[in-house]
Amino acid sequence: MANARFNAVLLFGGPGCGKGTQGAALAGLPNIRHLAMGDIFRALDKQSDIGREFLSYSTKGLLVPDELTVRVWKAHIEAMVKDGRVRRDYHTLLLDGIPRTTQQVGLMKPHVDVVKIVYLVVPDQNVLIQRLKGRALKGNRPDDADEKVIRERLRVYDESTAPVLDGYDKSLVARINADQSPFAVLRDIADCLSRCVSGDI
Ligand code: ADP
Repeated sequence: MANARFNAVLLFGGPGCGKGTQGAALAGLPNIRHLAMGDIFRALDKQSDIGREFLSYSTKGLLVPDELTVRVWKAHIEAMVKDGRVRRDYHTLLLDGIPRTTQQVGLMKPHVDVVKIVYLVVPDQNVLIQRLKGRALKGNRPDDADEKVIRERLRVYDESTAPVLDGYDKSLVARINADQSPFAVLRDIADCLSRCVSGDI
């Protein structure tokens, strides 16, 4: 990859906070490219070595190792650059689920310049658990079906992911109340990003 970095907004928060819903809503904006690391992993061929390795972690609620995660992310973005789906001089990346550990913060630094962190906060863990169980009934997410796995992901979030915020300047972090209707959350995110992401199309 060339040396120039992408501008990036991080969509940040625990499992079930609504990152996926909000990311999908914002992904339609012309100069945004939404990249959800979980989606990138789930799109891998399940029979491939990396696809199998991903499942061996995710089905237990564990994170994929950092080097492998960033390698998969980099290959994905490089393919997008190559076929013209993303341009550094135009797009702002909306990153969901990466970086997710302090080590990933360091590994991502050569590639992205973080201009804002949208931190979706749901104070009540029970709300998160109910949301994830509800999602399990709808989609192809084996990691949502089992409450033990959900609780493990919440624990891993507190232990490994919450400290990611410490790796960035506090002025970058916008706390958004994510225990509101999806429209209200979207309104608050849009209000925040309209002040820091270029609207040029
Ligand atoms: P959730 O936010 O609900 O946990 P995701 O779709 O973001 O769901 O991620 C699903 C799984 O993919 C995670 O539990 C983890 O195993 C793996 N994963 C996603 N992003 C990362 C990452 N940045 N580093 C390591 N593993 C990841």
